Amino acid sequence: MIAFIALLARNRLALVGGIVLVLVVLLALLTPLLPLADPDVTNTSNRFQPLFSEGALMGTDHLGRDLLSRLMWGTRLSLAVGFAAAIVAATIGAAVGIIAGYYGGRTDNIIMRGVDMLMAFPYILLALAIVAALGPGLLNALIAVAAVNVPFFARNIRGITVGIANKEFVDAARLAGLSDKQIILSEVLPNVVPVIVIAMSTTIGWMILETAGLSFLGLGSQPPQADLGSMLGEARSALITNPHTSIVPGMMILIIVMSINLLGDGVRDALDPRLKSGALSRPMAATRVDRAHQPPEAEGKGLLEVKALETQFHVKDRIYRAVGGVDLHVDKGECLGIIGESGSGKSVTALSIMGLVASPPGMITNGAAYFDGEDLIGMPYGRLRDMRGRTVSYIFQDPLATLHPLYRVGDQLIEAIQAHRRIDKVAGRDKAIDLLKAVRIPNAEKRISDYPHEMSGGMRQRVGIAMALANDPDIIIADEPTTALDVTVQAQVLTILDDLRRSRGLAIVFITHDFGVVAQLCDRVAVMYAGRVVEEGTTTTILDAPRHPYTARLMACVPELGGGKRRLEAIPGLPPVVDKLPEGCAFADRCDRVQEGCREGNITLDRVGGHGVRCLYPVGQDREFAE
Ligand code: ADP
Ligand code: MG
Repeated sequence: MIAFIALLARNRLALVGGIVLVLVVLLALLTPLLPLADPDVTNTSNRFQPLFSEGALMGTDHLGRDLLSRLMWGTRLSLAVGFAAAIVAATIGAAVGIIAGYYGGRTDNIIMRGVDMLMAFPYILLALAIVAALGPGLLNALIAVAAVNVPFFARNIRGITVGIANKEFVDAARLAGLSDKQIILSEVLPNVVPVIVIAMSTTIGWMILETAGLSFLGLGSQPPQADLGSMLGEARSALITNPHTSIVPGMMILIIVMSINLLGDGVRDALDPRLKSGALSRPMAATRVDRAHQPPEAEGKGLLEVKALETQFHVKDRIYRAVGGVDLHVDKGECLGIIGESGSGKSVTALSIMGLVASPPGMITNGAAYFDGEDLIGMPYGRLRDMRGRTVSYIFQDPLATLHPLYRVGDQLIEAIQAHRRIDKVAGRDKAIDLLKAVRIPNAEKRISDYPHEMSGGMRQRVGIAMALANDPDIIIADEPTTALDVTVQAQVLTILDDLRRSRGLAIVFITHDFGVVAQLCDRVAVMYAGRVVEEGTTTTILDAPRHPYTARLMACVPELGGGKRRLEAIPGLPPVVDKLPEGCAFADRCDRVQEGCREGNITLDRVGGHGVRCLYPVGQDREFAE
C-alpha cells in the first residue's frame, strides 16, 4: 500500500489531482459542521449579490440564497451521488461481466446481446428514458446514471475474464475440485479487481458529469435542494447578467472532474504491473550508450570485432550486469558459436551489437563493436538503421513470434527487401521466391502466398532465415534458431545455414546451448558464463580438451549416442544473479576445483595459442571430467 502511494506520488499530476480531491471531499464531509447560512432560505430582497459581498462571500442567486452555502451542500450531494453511481455500476457490471466471461457459450451470448442493446442507445437518451419511467428525483437519476454505465463495466470485465477463465491456474483449481463459485471468488475476482478499480477511477468523473447533466435538465435533484447540476440549471437565465451564479458551480464541477481524472490516470498507471517494470514505456530506437571510458581500439581481427562489451539493465535501484566485458570476433565465411546456460548473457550480447537491447532498462556502458573498422556502438541512429538487416541480420528462436500472423510470408519477405531498397512488386516477388528457394522450401511459388500458421515450425524457421538473407547481409546472428525445432528439422536447418555461409561467404554468429550443434556447424566457440566469455578457441580444441571447469561440466551433461551407459552429471547450483556478481570467478560456487584465490580480483582470459581460458586452475589434458 505504501509502495503504491509512493508510486502514485511520483506522478506529479496525479499527486496534485489527489490532493485537490482530498481537500474537496474533506470540505464536503465537514459542510454540516461549518458555520454556513441555510442553503435553502430565500431572500428576494437580496438577489444577485456579487462575489465578496458582505455576509455572502460568493454572492447570492436569483432567489437571494447564499451561493457559498449552496455550493458546499451541492458539492456534497454531487460527490455522493457520483460515487454511489460508480460503485453500483461497477458492482453490477463486474458481476455481469464475470458471469458472462466465465460461463461463456450461451450464457455469454444472451447476457452480452442484452448489454449490446443497452449500448446501442445514446447514453443520455437512455438515462432520460429511465428517469422518465421512474419519475424525476435524485435517487432515480442515480439509478439511471448507474444503469447506463453498467454495459461499459460489463464489457471490460467480460473481456478480462474470458482471458483468465482459460488459464492453467483456473484449470488447476477445477482439478482440485473447487466449485464454480469458489473459482470465481478465489481465482478470477482477484485478477479483475485491479481492472475494476482502474475502470472506476477513470469513470467517476464522467458519472458526476452525467448526474449533473440530469439535474441541469431538472430531472435530478428537486428544488430547493441544491446539487451542482441544478445550480447551473437555475443560473442559466442569468448567465449574461450575473455570470458568477453559473461560474461558481461550473468551476466546482471542473475542479472535481479534473482532479478525479488526473488521479484516475495515476491510479491506472500505478496499478498496472506492466507499467511498473517500464515494459510499456516505449523503448528508444537504439540502445542507450553511456560509455565511461574511451572504448578499446580495433585490432583488425575479423569482419566483426566486439571489444570489452558491457551491457547493463538499470531497473529501479538495481543494476543487472548482463554482459560484463565480452570480446569476440568473427571472420568472413566463419561460424562462431556462443554457448552457455540460459541467462548467461548470450542474447543480450548479440542484441547489443546492433543496438537492439530495449532502453530503458538496457544500457551499453562500455566497449565497442567494430564492423569493418567502424564502431557500431554509439553510431548515429540513421546510419545504424541503414546497416540493420543489410550488413548484420538476425534470426530468432521462435519464428512464429517473428512472423506477422496476418500477412502472407511473401509479403513479409518483400517488405524486408523494401526496407533497404526500392523494388517493384514483380521484381520483389521474384526475389522472394529466390530467397525461399535458397532456404530449400519446396514449391516456393505456391508457398509464397501462405500465411505463417499454414507452415510447419521448420518451414517457418526457413522463412526466418530467408528474411535474414533478404538484403545479402555480411553477418547473420542466429539466436538459438533451432531450439524450438525437433532434431531432424534442426539438422536440415543447420545444413542450410552451413551451405549458405560457404556459398555466400557469410559470417555466422550462432548462439546455442547445444554442443552437438556447435560440433556440426561452428569453426570456433566462445563459452559464456554470467555475462563473460570464460573459454574461447577452435571447436576441435575445445570439444577435445575443454580447459575451463565450466565447459568441461557442460559437456559432461551431454548424452552421447552409442557411447554406452554413463552418468550424466548435472552442474549443481544455479548461475549467479547478475545484479549481485561475486568477486573473482563467477563459477567458483559451483566448481569442484575451486581453490583459494578463485574468489578474489579480476580473473583474466589467458591465451595459449588460439585457446583462451578464464580460470586460475584450468583442467589439464588428463580429461578427468570427460571420462
Ligand atoms: P541467454 O544467455 O539465455 O540468452 P540473456 O542474454 O537473455 O541470456 O540474459 C542475460 C541476463 O540478463 C539474464 O541474467 C537476465 O536476467 C538479464 N536480463 C535480460 N533482460 C533483462 C531485463 N529487461 N531486465 C533485467 N535483466 C535482464
Ligand atoms: Mg537467449
